[in-house]
Amino acid sequence: MIIDDLRTELPADRLIEDPDVAASFAGDEAEWAPRGTPVLVVRPRTSAEVQSVVRACIRHGVPLTTRGAGTGLSGGANAIDGGVVLSTELMNDIREINSVERLAVVGPGVVNDDLRAACAEQGLWYPPDPASAPWSTIGGNVATNAGGLCCVKYGVTRDYVLALEVVTGTGELVRLGRRTAKGVAGYDLAGLIVGSEGTLAVVTEVTVKLRPQRAPERTVAGYFSSVVDAGRAVTAIGAAGVVPSALELIDRHCLAAVDAWKNMGLSVDADVVLLGRSDAPGPAGEYEATTMLTCFEQAGATWAAQSENQREADALFEARRLAYPALERLGPVLTEDVCVPKAAVPEMLARIERAAQANDTHIANIAHAGDGNLHPLLITPIGDEAARTRAQAAFEQIIADALDLGGTVTGEHGVGLLKRDGLASELSPEVMTMHRAIKQSLDPHNILNPGKVITLPS
Ligand SMILES: Cc1cc2nc3c(=O)[nH]c(=O)nc-3n(C[C@H](O)[C@H](O)[C@H](O)COP(=O)(O)OP(=O)(O)OC[C@H]3O[C@@H](n4cnc5c(N)ncnc54)[C@H](O)[C@@H]3O)c2cc1C
Repeated sequence: MIIDDLRTELPADRLIEDPDVAASFAGDEAEWAPRGTPVLVVRPRTSAEVQSVVRACIRHGVPLTTRGAGTGLSGGANAIDGGVVLSTELMNDIREINSVERLAVVGPGVVNDDLRAACAEQGLWYPPDPASAPWSTIGGNVATNAGGLCCVKYGVTRDYVLALEVVTGTGELVRLGRRTAKGVAGYDLAGLIVGSEGTLAVVTEVTVKLRPQRAPERTVAGYFSSVVDAGRAVTAIGAAGVVPSALELIDRHCLAAVDAWKNMGLSVDADVVLLGRSDAPGPAGEYEATTMLTCFEQAGATWAAQSENQREADALFEARRLAYPALERLGPVLTEDVCVPKAAVPEMLARIERAAQANDTHIANIAHAGDGNLHPLLITPIGDEAARTRAQAAFEQIIADALDLGGTVTGEHGVGLLKRDGLASELSPEVMTMHRAIKQSLDPHNILNPGKVITLPS
């Protein structure tokens, strides 16, 4: 049995055999995705220990699901029945912050905000900032190629990964990528692992690129009476040539849920709020903020202003970050993650409204609007199976609409379990075959998170 092997190979404190405790490692935040029951949870401290776990899984033909903080929204970290869950929570050391090379080397279990705070102490900045940054891990961010609020200007996780150390599906410990500013030796295998959702390798160390700390941001807020008007403002900002450092949308359902939970005193009298930010220093920042304000007004904002009060502006962004957990308190949430071209944002928001009406489903909206990355949140009352069926139909309609508008089924949350059908709709059969070939080549025993992203013929 794999448990016997791992008991002899790893210190006892690395293994969690108690089924009740193991169950708490069995799923991520995608409440709608099925989760299995693991035989064991392992919490390795070193890359060599990860290698022992992978090799034991290969010997015993047991599937292995790697888990960071379990904040994923696609079921990617959900356990497989009879499988092993490998938690990276003990591999949480920041190994190097190098201000000359502007890079950091971290264990995969380092929490995003902890890395950002450590970098800030040295005047450096790690940009990728998913709204889950207080909890999610760098390993999980790499495995999902996480986006975030400032990605509209600064790019996503992939843009910051220089090198990875990984354990492969054949149990080898290898280094991919480089520490240098440039480098084109061979295929970009580090890039291939980014976004592979634990299906191609277990990431055991991450080297990321850093930037110098940036100027304080100016915030512009706009209130709108419809999501479509807010969408028009997003398109107008793109057309005006402004690249905001954040452009986020949050609707009244989300604001009300956050306020009910955190009592933040958010007295927003609007159906939809758009929050734009500029971190350009000096007059350029003033120009960007003024341009965003004009775009808000011309798109039909009922109120718009540049925030004079940093605390107020921060509270609105905090509400944006807390929207998902706040809504989760109201009932099971099915999170969408479609991404469409900026010009199609108003039309996509209109179609989301139509999908809600046609399927009698309550949909709240948050969005990394500046990226065209929309997160309609489909909420169903607990235990209402008919509502779930309708919500599933709305979910599928939204995916079809996004593809119809030239978008993608997932902008940042990944395919996991929830978007496998969507992936097959988006990619051609030839490209699906390429995916399978890569999976078979790098994970020939099919033990790394099998069934996530793509399924192989049995
Ligand atoms: C409130 C909230 C806000 C969010 N906001 C954003 C956002 O703004 N942008 C965004 O992109 N996402 C967001 N997410 C989704 C989620 O936080 C991200 O997908 C995040 O990157 C997951 O990190 P994690 O450590 O929780 O990984 P997990 O959920 O534990 O795992 C995610 C996937 O990565 C794999 N994985 C984890 N660690 C490793 C590793 N070391 N090696 C190989 N595979 C690994 C897992 O198998 C799984 O497939 C949000 C989620 C919540 C709950």
